[in-house]
Amino acid sequence: MALINADGIVTKETKYGDTSRILTVITKELGRISVLAGNARRNKSGLLTATALFSYSSFTLFKGGSSSLYKLNECELLTSFSALHESLDGMAFASYFCDVTNTVVQEDSPDLAQTRLLLRSLYMLCRNDPDYEKIKAVFEFRTLTIAGLLPNLSACADCGAVSDLVGLSPKNGCVYCSKCLTKHLEIYTINDSILAAIAYIALAQEKKEFSFNMSDKSIKYLSELGECCIQALLEKNFKTLDYLRRVTALM
Ligand SMILES: [Zn+2]
Repeated sequence: MALINADGIVTKETKYGDTSRILTVITKELGRISVLAGNARRNKSGLLTATALFSYSSFTLFKGGSSSLYKLNECELLTSFSALHESLDGMAFASYFCDVTNTVVQEDSPDLAQTRLLLRSLYMLCRNDPDYEKIKAVFEFRTLTIAGLLPNLSACADCGAVSDLVGLSPKNGCVYCSKCLTKHLEIYTINDSILAAIAYIALAQEKKEFSFNMSDKSIKYLSELGECCIQALLEKNFKTLDYLRRVTALM
């Protein structure tokens, strides 16, 4: 039986029978895969940590029969991100990032840029005193960029004007000038600094995308715009986002 090696992040786990779990893993080599972790819950603690939610691990897998399910042979922990399990906020933001990634990365179709973005975002969440809303906004606009869904920010979608761009439509995935925006509904007000921040996030080199400064108020608004765009353009309402907002309301 051929063994397959893949490095990936556990983005979801579901109990299966009394002692098994089915893991969703976002891997660099295979894209999104489902892995049956046999007796992992009863097994030695090292394997439990390596297959825990949010763990980044090196998996050795095999496929039995015609099932699309991979079976776990061995698993070695690379990074645990265990701090996320100790914080309600960290847990909520990480769960949302994993949920979005499970939607954009297809089964058995590698997406290295999105996998790396998820890894970097989890690292950022685990740092001291993380700016959760900033990490979220970057994750959202960067995800849209990688998926090729980022709204065109350079000109008004109706008249082509390149200045006086003051409205963004998450639903239409575009921006409008002050003259044209009155013809559209569900428009979010934007300004040059918001546009510049989104452009920076989209174009920055990997690892540099979090390195910009903005007021807390603007970051919060950018994060709100990010989730509207993500939900409109991926055409999905994320339950993990509802949970995240219930958690942040307590902060
Ligand atoms: Zn216009």
